[in-house]
Amino acid sequence: MHSRWNEEESLQFKTDLELRVYTSQLLGRDPALVLHGGGNTSVKITEKNILGENEELLYVKGSGWDLEFIEAPGFAPVRLNHLLKLAKLDVLSDPEMVNELKTQMTNASAPTPSVEAILHAALPYKYVDHTHANAIVTITNTEDGRKRIEEIYGDTVVIIDYIMPGFDLAKQCAKQFASEASAKTQGMILMNHGIFTFGPTAREAYEMMITLVDKAEKYLIQQDAWKITLSTPNKNSFSKRNILPALRKNVSKAAGTAMILRCSEHEKAKSFSAKQNVSKISQQGPATPDHVIRTKQLPMIGTDVDAYTSAYKKYFELNSAQAKDKKAMLDSAPRVILDKTLGMLCVGKTIKDACIVEDIYLHTIDIIQRAEKLGGYKALPDQDIFDMEYWDLEQAKLKKGGKAPVFQGEVALVTGAASGIGKACVSSLLARGAAVVALDINPEIESAFETTSYLGLSCDINSQTQIKQSLEQAVTHFGGIDMLVLNAGMFPGGFKIAELEVDIWRKVMQVNVDANQFILKSAFHILQHAPNGGRVVIMGSKNVPAPGPGAAAYSASKAALTQLARIASLEWGEHNIRVNTLHPDAVFDTGIWTDEVLQARAAHYGIGVEQYKRKNILKTEITSHDVGELTAELCSPIFSKTTGAQIPIDGGNDRVI
Ligand code: ZN
Repeated sequence: MHSRWNEEESLQFKTDLELRVYTSQLLGRDPALVLHGGGNTSVKITEKNILGENEELLYVKGSGWDLEFIEAPGFAPVRLNHLLKLAKLDVLSDPEMVNELKTQMTNASAPTPSVEAILHAALPYKYVDHTHANAIVTITNTEDGRKRIEEIYGDTVVIIDYIMPGFDLAKQCAKQFASEASAKTQGMILMNHGIFTFGPTAREAYEMMITLVDKAEKYLIQQDAWKITLSTPNKNSFSKRNILPALRKNVSKAAGTAMILRCSEHEKAKSFSAKQNVSKISQQGPATPDHVIRTKQLPMIGTDVDAYTSAYKKYFELNSAQAKDKKAMLDSAPRVILDKTLGMLCVGKTIKDACIVEDIYLHTIDIIQRAEKLGGYKALPDQDIFDMEYWDLEQAKLKKGGKAPVFQGEVALVTGAASGIGKACVSSLLARGAAVVALDINPEIESAFETTSYLGLSCDINSQTQIKQSLEQAVTHFGGIDMLVLNAGMFPGGFKIAELEVDIWRKVMQVNVDANQFILKSAFHILQHAPNGGRVVIMGSKNVPAPGPGAAAYSASKAALTQLARIASLEWGEHNIRVNTLHPDAVFDTGIWTDEVLQARAAHYGIGVEQYKRKNILKTEITSHDVGELTAELCSPIFSKTTGAQIPIDGGNDRVI
């Protein structure tokens, strides 16, 4: 472990609070110290209040901020004296504590102070740094962890036995620190939790964190418990798309809502999952309380979710009567599933959550394997994990955040998605919280959207191999597919039947009908496991109900596709898959409609371009965005009782009506 302090960089940070921001970011940049919102820091500053009086404030990290990216507004100013008085109380419930923290802030718009604020206040130093450093957690999560910590640090640290974060921990730390700290004290180690360092300057507190954690890392190296050799698991050739969607459905059932299931591609995850003793070493609980909520206590071994769910429920019933009151909130879905064949699967309400679970568990794997080398990994006792999971403050965190987007935890696949209507469908689905797999023959698809919810894949839908590969990638990435939007198609240009070459006819049929039939066939086994039921939207055309001369191949192919969709709706209803068709017309903001083409068409009718665009009953212009929005809504619960429908989106056409 090395210090990331950079003298030149540090010069940009001048005030006490700015320097607090700087070293907090330094801590946040090192994943061996801080992961995804873990850890917290503070600085004590005297400021003049509005009455002109001097007031001592604790600026402590606010919830919702990640140390890596924290800025000054991420620190909540709380009256220090009040916190010190609170630390002297005998008892203070969690809700009372949160209330005190919030009402003693001097800035109403600051974030909620960290639940470890009282602990920060109680340490008599200007700067206080706290992390859940991997090396410390590794050593303290072993049978004789305390002895090892004493061996490494001697009397330079105060050691606190495990207590759940909150008021009791703050009180215990304040008490022990007051009686045990001496001139030699450099830090404080919290068993099964992490480490505190402190100092008169931001740099000293930070450098001491690096020094002490470095000692722990060196100890692990010296004990030959640092380097982990990866065994290569057997290569399996099987289709994830035949297995994962059904598993995801069960996980979602246990969660009570649709969940994303991500299959980790990380070698470390694959090798750990395939280990002989994985069931023993992985089932002993999380490494630190900070990981409990986000990795949902014990990872699950094997893919029998029903067995896991019932074991999990029993675990809570046995552990406490509290579980009965809070049963309604019980989401018993595992967040990590380890399977010898499938590897490591990470579960989350969103892909972002699943990625955080993956990241945290990859670090947990290091911690477990290193602790195993130290003589055996030993996590928190069951009761402590239970308390943590039901901790009032954690529950409050989970409940926050308002209404979930309509497609949260769901996955859509859109074909022909690089431009026009397809791209608009992707936008509308992403905007409603879906993870979206977008296919197109144009390789630009791979980087069309920049969000973890988006997976763009180059795919020629005429290639059955490429379709199968794309579905496999979609399932590996997100666990399944809930919504399928078949938009890709081709328009060959105007040919009268007498001039229509058979090759063109066949090509149009191949793209507009054959390819879509193969996608439907291949996606059926995935869609039937959609937790909320599968949904298919087919992009038809006004030419189906109202064909025009010169478009024989196109109109006939879209009519065949519409008929295919109608039959799919008949066959798939019993599998809870809805299939509906949209018939757009005159969507002019797509690639085919260049300005010249538009002008030519308008001239043909002897009208202006704007008038031509609104040549429909409602005299309205139809955009790709309109079609994207209707496509997304067709997949939403509003249309949950509709299947086999054909819906025009054309501004009203007297030939269709
Ligand atoms: Zn902590």
